[in-house]
Amino acid sequence: MNRPDNVRINNEIDIKKHKILMNKKIVIIGGGFAGLNFIKNSKSKDYHITLVDRNNYTFFPPLLYQVATSFLEPSSISYPFRKMLRKKNNVNFKLGEIVRIIPERKQIILTTGELDYDYLILATGTETNYFGIENVRKKAIPMKTVNDSLEMRNHLLKQLEHATMFVDNHEILRKKLNIVVAGGGPTGVEISGMLAEMQTIFRKDYPEFNAVKLQSSIYLVDGAAQLLSPMSKKSQENTFKALEKMGVKIILNAQVLNYENDKVVLSNGEVIETENLIWAAGITSQIFVGLPENCYGKGKRLLVDTYNKIEVLADIYAIGDTCIQMADSNFPLGHPQVAQVALQQGKTLARNLDNLLEKKPLSPFIYKDKGSMAIISHNKAVVDLPGGVHFKGTIAWLIWLFIHLMSLVHYRNRITTLYNWVVAYFTKDQALRMIIRPKNLNFKS
Ligand SMILES: Cc1cc2nc3c(=O)[nH]c(=O)nc-3n(C[C@H](O)[C@H](O)[C@H](O)COP(=O)(O)OP(=O)(O)OC[C@H]3O[C@@H](n4cnc5c(N)ncnc54)[C@H](O)[C@@H]3O)c2cc1C
Repeated sequence: MNRPDNVRINNEIDIKKHKILMNKKIVIIGGGFAGLNFIKNSKSKDYHITLVDRNNYTFFPPLLYQVATSFLEPSSISYPFRKMLRKKNNVNFKLGEIVRIIPERKQIILTTGELDYDYLILATGTETNYFGIENVRKKAIPMKTVNDSLEMRNHLLKQLEHATMFVDNHEILRKKLNIVVAGGGPTGVEISGMLAEMQTIFRKDYPEFNAVKLQSSIYLVDGAAQLLSPMSKKSQENTFKALEKMGVKIILNAQVLNYENDKVVLSNGEVIETENLIWAAGITSQIFVGLPENCYGKGKRLLVDTYNKIEVLADIYAIGDTCIQMADSNFPLGHPQVAQVALQQGKTLARNLDNLLEKKPLSPFIYKDKGSMAIISHNKAVVDLPGGVHFKGTIAWLIWLFIHLMSLVHYRNRITTLYNWVVAYFTKDQALRMIIRPKNLNFKS
């Protein structure tokens, strides 16, 4: 998006329109878990809040892989900001991306215009980290946005269509059907499990492959010695066994070094031939032009104090994945970059900014760990709850389904998702396997 010159977005217009006495302007960049939970919990009407996002919708990252594997439509896991904010008179939305922050003038420049702020909140999450491997950045399919998930869906479906033309050539067929998933965290595990489960569906849709002995191989590669590193040992072992039983080839203690000429080169010397590398191996935060270098900590995360204020700057806060707080003795390396931290930080900051206005004392952020979970496939999941409680199998799967369903942002999303899941459960199939692409979308070949 190119920024039109000298376009000034005037929040005053909205202020007058709603006839509210607005003393302070809050600008939030990013309407993910952290940004939206800030808005939800901000009670004071003496603030005028402008939400800025590069998309005009919010989405639910934990279910992106279900869009990528044709189980859900993008609209089931996303919702437009303007519709969501209709009833919030002191909140408005602007589409745009940050170009520069000018802290000394309390101003931000967006791709779409300029905004003044009294308090700026950065809630921009993270981006895919390719660890500087240029070939991977160019050719792998990331799994971070709705666009990525559609790209993956289209790419894999197109590969299957192409593969039907090469049933007699096993060398080409293998490259078209092999899939390498890099990253053995929840996203990599969930994608691998789902793809393994879909093999039977593909067999039904593509009778051309029935006479061919060759099976598509799904490789899951991780640099650590186990899958699901932050989860319990039981979860790691159960996941490993379940995926292996489903035919996923798990390669641990190995990193992807390069991806060239349809070959994924691993640090253990192995080379896997494939045209399909899915990248779920790393995340990084963004660098914001205008902020000094000493704002950033590990993984480019913005260093914040216990109130989520950027330590070295006045009136600029950061919440969610994009920030790191080093003061919590339970998390000396910073909090994990997960939804619960983002949600809880959004809520604490909203209350603190309300308290600031009323000159009440502020509360430091204290993270309450509610546990973690990952789904493996039909009836298989792992759940770790605080206190060492562990579930696996159908119970864990039901817990996972319930929590993810209830976390979706709108009842409409919940209904369509539930419908799709019920149909997929009973038919062991889904019907969203269409290759739909904008005219100018460049396909990876
Ligand atoms: C595939 C996947 C699966 C996941 N699964 C789980 C899970 O099962 N459980 C769990 O707890 N966590 C999971 N996570 C992590 C979880 O999604 C994040 O911890 C959480 O989304 C962080 O919330 P956030 O508000 O900080 O950032 P986000 O939710 O990422 O929101 C950031 C927002 O900022 C916007 N934005 C970014 N940069 C700019 C910019 N420069 N200008 C304007 N707007 C911008 C984005 O469009 C987005 O709307 C998963 C993440 C991914 C990618």
